[in-house]
This record gives sequence, C-alpha cells and structure tokens, in this order.
Amino acid sequence: AGRASYRFHRSCEVPGQDGGPRSRLRLDNAMRQALVEGHFRLHYQPQVDMNTGKVLGAEALIRWHDPELGNISPGEFIPVAEQSGFIVPIGDWVLRQAVHQAAQWYRQGRGLVVSINVSAVQFHRAGFVDRVASALHAAGLPAGMLELELTESILIQDAQEALLRLQALSDLGVKLAIDDFGTGYSSLGYLKRFPIDRLKIDRSFVRGLPGDESDVGIVNAIVNLGRALHLEIVAEGVETEDQRQFLMRTGCEQYQGFLFAPALDSRSFEAKLDPENPPAGL
Ligand code: C2E
Ligand code: MG
Ligand code: MG
Ligand code: MG
Repeated sequence: AGRASYRFHRSCEVPGQDGGPRSRLRLDNAMRQALVEGHFRLHYQPQVDMNTGKVLGAEALIRWHDPELGNISPGEFIPVAEQSGFIVPIGDWVLRQAVHQAAQWYRQGRGLVVSINVSAVQFHRAGFVDRVASALHAAGLPAGMLELELTESILIQDAQEALLRLQALSDLGVKLAIDDFGTGYSSLGYLKRFPIDRLKIDRSFVRGLPGDESDVGIVNAIVNLGRALHLEIVAEGVETEDQRQFLMRTGCEQYQGFLFAPALDSRSFEAKLDPENPPAGL
C-alpha cells in the first residue's frame, strides 16, 4: 500500500473513503504493530546555552520508520494516537526509553536534562505520576534530570486536577516546561500558581526575528515575563545566526534549532557533544 493512503485528514468523514476515518484506523493499527515490532525510535535535539554554547539538555522526539510506509512524522501520527488513546502506550514507551537514555548519560557524567513531550490524554490518565516515578526508579535517574514538556491546553483542561498533578510531579523533583508557549490560551494566571520551571518560545514567533515587529514584541514580552517570574526561557526553532543574536541580546538564555542541530539519534548526538572523540564507526 502507498504511504499516501495512510495520511490523516481531519476534514474527511466519509466512511471508507481514501483519507477518511478508515485510513485513520489503518494508521492506528500500523502504530500498534510498530510499537510491538520496535519501529519507533527516539531522537534527541540539543538545547544549548546561548552564551557558552554548551549543550545543557536534549528534547526527545519520536521517530517512526515503517518498513512499508516509510517515515511518518509525529505531526501526522501523534494526533491520531491522541484520538484513539494509543498515545498512552506510546507515551509510556517514550518515557521509559528517554529515562533509560538519560540515565546512561547521567552515569557518563554528562549532566544533560532530557525533556519529553507529554500529551494531554497521557497527563490526565490515572496513575501518570506513578508511572513517571517508577520509570525514574527503574533506571536509577535523579528526577531533576527529567523534564516534562506540557502544552498550555493541559493546564486549562481540569485546572484543579492539573494543579495537583503538577504539584506531585514537582515534589518528585521532575522539571516542568510549557511547550509552544504563546500559542495556547492567553490566561497567564496559571504561571503564578503552577510550579513551572521553563517556557519554550514557540518557533512561530522565532521565525520572523529580527525583522518582524510583532515577533520582536512577543519575544521581548515572553523573555521579560520569564525574568519576572524566575522561569528559564528557551527559544525553539532557531535556524539563523541573526535569530540567535537577536535572542541573546534580548536576554533569552537557551535555544534549540537547526542552527545548532536537528534531532539526532543518540550516537550522533554524543558525537556532536564530543566532536574530538567520535565513537568508532562514525
Ligand atoms: P514540539 O515538541 O514543539 O517539537 C519541536 C518540533 O520542531 C520538532 O518536530 C523538531 O524536529 C522541530 N524543530 C526543531 N528545530 C527546528 C528548526 O530549527 N526549524 C524547524 N522548522 N523545525 C524545528 P517533530 O519532531 O516533527 O515533532 C513535531 C511535534 O510532534 C512536537 O512538537 C510534539 O508536539 C510532537 N511530538 C514529537 N515527539 C513526541 C512524543 O514523543 N510524544 C508526544 N506526545 N508528542 C511528540
Ligand atoms: Mg516539545
Ligand atoms: Mg515546541
Ligand atoms: Mg510544537
């Protein structure tokens, strides 16, 4: 079967028609098979200290290479998995895998915080905090070496329950970040109440830097907000040196983006960290 027939189209609801609910179902089935057969991988994108150029952490991003369908991007299958609930086992796999990798780097003395993306469905599922605690325990990883990236929508949905959960995670010692900051709901009150450590400036606001006046204004506002609330700020999607320079002048302390590196498999990630000691075979 061609890859195109598995693509997800939100708008089409005609049963059985190509691209409609049936292909969503087929994609969902393919995901179930991929998890069993081990076709998911995690890649790691460096998060860099703006001033020193030191790699401080890594965002784990899921990759799926299917022998039949080819590469399927998370932007395509994560929404399908969220809808079907299959994001829960996928998210569990990501958690275990990332914590395992983080523990390995930790034992090597690399001091890298590994971030994972958490879906709303996964976050609100009973037992989420216990799953995180047990993954950390199983790998022997100090909680402070793991960060969870949450979207603003997670915090809005059942805010009371979300607060309890965030508090429990924060008590564990896990770091908490708001992903794609600025693209969700505009209520800022939660930043005061919730135990957040870091904001990630969405790449849609970075793209137009330094020329676009609105992007400049928004990024300045986020950096100032972060400073006032004692939150770390990381800019996403930094592709050019001009963007990086602008962000540095603004006071943004960390960045992530193709300018430094895309998400890499763990061996290439390590090679990027110690370019003078490439592992054998690279
Ligand atoms: P995100 O968490 O905001 O991740 C950042 C996305 O931007 C990644 O896309 C990354 O490859 C891409 N990116 C990084 N730097 C640049 C850059 O300089 N330029 C451009 N154009 N893009 C850049 P990716 O890996 O395709 O992931 C897309 C989204 O899928 C993620 O957005 C996240 O929401 C979701 N996702 C990825 N992995 C997972 C996962 O393990 N679990 C969950 N629940 N969601 C995931
Ligand atoms: Mg993210
Ligand atoms: Mg993001
Ligand atoms: Mg995003």
